[in-house]
Amino acid sequence: MLAGRKRTIVAAVLALLLGVGAAGARRAGYLGGLKTAPAVVVASAPVFEIRDTLRASETVSQLFERRGVNGVDWAAVARAVKNFRADRLRSGLIFAFRQRHGEPAPHAVAVRTSHDTRLWMRRAAEGWAASLERIPWRVEWVAASGTIRSSLYDAMDEAVGDDVLPREERVQLVWGLSEVYDWVVDFSRDLQDGDRFRVVAERLVSIEGEVRYGRVLAARLDLSGRRLYAFGFDQRGRTEFYDAEGRSMKRDFLRTPLEFKRIASGFSRSRFHPILRSRRPHLGIDFGAAYGAPVRSVGGGTVTAAGRMGSYGNMVEIRHNPRTTTRYAHLSRLGPGISLGARVAQGATVGYVGASGLATSPHLHYELRIGGNAVNPRRRFATGSGAPLPGAQRPAFEQEKARLRALLEPETTELRQAT
Ligand SMILES: [Zn+2]
Repeated sequence: MLAGRKRTIVAAVLALLLGVGAAGARRAGYLGGLKTAPAVVVASAPVFEIRDTLRASETVSQLFERRGVNGVDWAAVARAVKNFRADRLRSGLIFAFRQRHGEPAPHAVAVRTSHDTRLWMRRAAEGWAASLERIPWRVEWVAASGTIRSSLYDAMDEAVGDDVLPREERVQLVWGLSEVYDWVVDFSRDLQDGDRFRVVAERLVSIEGEVRYGRVLAARLDLSGRRLYAFGFDQRGRTEFYDAEGRSMKRDFLRTPLEFKRIASGFSRSRFHPILRSRRPHLGIDFGAAYGAPVRSVGGGTVTAAGRMGSYGNMVEIRHNPRTTTRYAHLSRLGPGISLGARVAQGATVGYVGASGLATSPHLHYELRIGGNAVNPRRRFATGSGAPLPGAQRPAFEQEKARLRALLEPETTELRQAT
């Protein structure tokens, strides 16, 4: 009943497009109206499409059977399409089933398997044939600037319209920005009301009109009087970031053990949980984060403690050099391979946020110890500068920097041209 009504609507829409009456279109489609209508109408009009979603509880074959498609040789599909595996298709994918009016089953199925590919399956005499359609994206750049009032997310929402980047892509841009400054700025704590940002980033537009965030190209932060530039520069196919003097943004230590995207949004003013504050001086920083969020080692080193440790709960301690250690406490569990004596790289997952030990809610307790004494990591890791680019790369970097700076700060370029 429902299908019948839908068919009528589809036929009417097609008829409007083709400039003929609904009845005429239907006659052309169903009754083989070759005598009264041009052949082209017969060929193009009577196709409708049904979209259906792959559910978490089912296989692709089950979805296809639900839509009346049987006997697909998935092994043959895998042979025809490189890197395709039916059992790897994730639930939530939307499949479009195309069917001709009057036929009992679809003759073609399309599914977007990635941002730039669509898998097509078409019924042929000898079975179902598969092919991959490439969806081209063009790369554009966008420049944005703003003042931080409540959070970087809000500032970005104000600076970048929905027509430029959809909301979820703006969030990606904020996270991309935080990754560029990962060694220098804690976006959850170092930003103050009135701080400013500028960013030039890639915006990707597909031939079908979709819009995505690509990557950060350059940025500038003005934080309480500190001006921090970051210019992307290609290093063997990877974009690395350097300051205005050509020094790497990377340091021996990450600014925080939690990725900004894992931290509760907004600039949370330092919140110390009441239990510890009332019992003894607090020797670290607490980060509010969701239970299970990965915790990373701020630097490379050796695990010197891992496991239950009184009020710390599940705790991991890393020694980075003979004098410097960091501690990560209240973990729900330890990271893969984290045990006494194990070597860890910077950014390695040491554990996951929890509420073990003396903790009322899930959070990460983080400590930096130098010469056995806990010190404020915010002060200790804020200074220093990264390794400079090799001299041979400087001319190419200066050229790229000038190009990016013109996008980042168009007004300074205009000024220079005016004088
Ligand atoms: Zn704490």
